[in-house]
Amino acid sequence: MSADLSRGPIYVATTNSHKAREIAEILSGTGLDIRPAPDMPEVVEDGETFRDNALLKARAAAAALGAPALADDSGLAVKVLDGAPGVHSARYAGGTGGDPANNALLVERLSALGVTDPEAAFVCHVILAAPDGTVLAEAEGRVEGVIRWPGRGSSGFGYDPLFFHPPSGCRLAELAPEAKNAISHRGNALRRLAEVLESGIQG
Ligand code: IMP
Repeated sequence: MSADLSRGPIYVATTNSHKAREIAEILSGTGLDIRPAPDMPEVVEDGETFRDNALLKARAAAAALGAPALADDSGLAVKVLDGAPGVHSARYAGGTGGDPANNALLVERLSALGVTDPEAAFVCHVILAAPDGTVLAEAEGRVEGVIRWPGRGSSGFGYDPLFFHPPSGCRLAELAPEAKNAISHRGNALRRLAEVLESGIQG
């Protein structure tokens, strides 16, 4: 690691307070001073990959705050749709109808293909950037499953009601939050990042 991260705060660049808390909780074992970013600069997320967008957000926040900043980007990738909705997951149906419209469009596209249990993965990329744009640490996490419809469950958000996770035997939306965090793409990415940071600190 090229910076002494134990000296000052590391800001979590997200406007989602639930995400900020989850990130701080998973990274608490590192002993680092993890804080929510007080301000988030406006960032156009026009990258082609989850990594591109995480990097855009982490760099913008680190530059604005003058301190290392951590950002994530995530979404759903369906194999038979060549990885769609991918980086467009949040606005797959155009951005107005929210999760119900996105889920309906996904079901419509998969129904048209006549497929059963198409393979999918939730992917999350996390990046810690320095104010000069240097990438200090990064990690990617995934959770593999299949898409089933109609939706089931009322927990979680986004595409969770359509995502069947074989090891759990249910949709992600049927899992309690802690159970989802234990297997989720975001949880996996953050746990991996914590390992990278801990090895950097000790080394
Ligand atoms: P974000 O980058 O984490 O804000 O996620 C972008 C979009 O990907 C969300 O608006 C959801 O549509 C989808 N997504 C990301 N993570 C999840 C998840 O854990 N469950 C369901 N949908 C997700």
